[in-house]
Amino acid sequence: MYKLTLIPGDGIGPEIVDAAKNVIAATSVPVNWEIVNAGLEVYEQEGTLIPENVFESLEKNKIALKGPITTPIGKGFQSINVHFRKKYDLYANIRPVKTLPGIKVPFSNIDLVIFRENTEDLYIGIEKMTTPTTAEATKQISEKGSRRIIKAAFEYAKTNNKSKVAVVHKANIMKLTDGLFLACAREVSKEYPQIQLQEVIVDNMCMQLVMNPAQFEVIVTTNLYGDILSDLCAGLVGGLGLVPGANVGNNMAIFEAVHGSAPDIAGKNIANPTAIILSGAMMLEYLGEKNKSDLICKAVKEVIGQRKYITKDLGGNATTTEMSNAIIDHMLTIKNHINA
Ligand code: NAD
Repeated sequence: MYKLTLIPGDGIGPEIVDAAKNVIAATSVPVNWEIVNAGLEVYEQEGTLIPENVFESLEKNKIALKGPITTPIGKGFQSINVHFRKKYDLYANIRPVKTLPGIKVPFSNIDLVIFRENTEDLYIGIEKMTTPTTAEATKQISEKGSRRIIKAAFEYAKTNNKSKVAVVHKANIMKLTDGLFLACAREVSKEYPQIQLQEVIVDNMCMQLVMNPAQFEVIVTTNLYGDILSDLCAGLVGGLGLVPGANVGNNMAIFEAVHGSAPDIAGKNIANPTAIILSGAMMLEYLGEKNKSDLICKAVKEVIGQRKYITKDLGGNATTTEMSNAIIDHMLTIKNHINA
């Protein structure tokens, strides 16, 4: 029995996390969920964003599935997501982006993984007003932080028989910070002579991704570019409702969708549960339950491919519950077929 932490989150979080929990239950992987709450809604009720029991649960269980959490824009508290990533040194934000059958998008052959550095860059939260009319932010890039995410990307490429890794930077302008990241990529790549290093400046990367995304297999980049490119890539495959993610460190892993709390559609049972369900599948693979993870992915593909039970963002009219139930039904059919 796995004891895992479950954080429902804000906005659409509770609806989609519930769907993912039901899908994982249908795999028969034995999970004992410890449900703890963090976020804006907890803050409004309890006056604290992350109650102590959330930290205790994460530190005990080491693996969590997490819903999105709202962060106020331009004021208020630091992002809880950034806080978890920094506190637990979850340095690798891994986001697989794939085209799925049945989704009408310009490219049918996208299959890439983004490795986004998760603890440094402009996300360290050091900003100040240097004069009453000028604001400054600190961008921090370290050799240690850069090497380990780049290494993770190359190791992934090696294990998964990928032939190239693209490092995305803006070292022509930020010669010290992005220059250091690029230099680390060149150094690390020497340990992997069979894998080609593609060096791409971030603005060109945006155009290349929109024109010819299939040329990329693995992308490794700094925190802010990784955040932006993730949403761009999500758009290429049909939207934010489809792309899962993992925040992985040496001692802990938190799995969550790329998208946020989507307040515009919260509480309506219309959010696409795919991204968090696939994040759950990534979690099962991390636990060593590869067959069960594959079962979920296969069922998701079939349900989306058939286009009968898909949510509004994908052009359908199914509710969150109907779509996740259809995924569960497909999983059971696949299981019965295998057992027959
Ligand atoms: P968002 O990702 O929440 O939403 C962007 C757009 O995509 C919206 O139109 C939304 O309806 C749609 N969308 C997102 N997820 C969807 C889904 N599963 N199904 C269908 N449509 C979906 O981004 P935002 O509006 O910029 O941010 C809202 C809040 O979420 C902010 O407070 C932000 O800080 C937070 N956020 C949290 C995380 C996280 O917890 N990891 C990540 C990103 C943003």
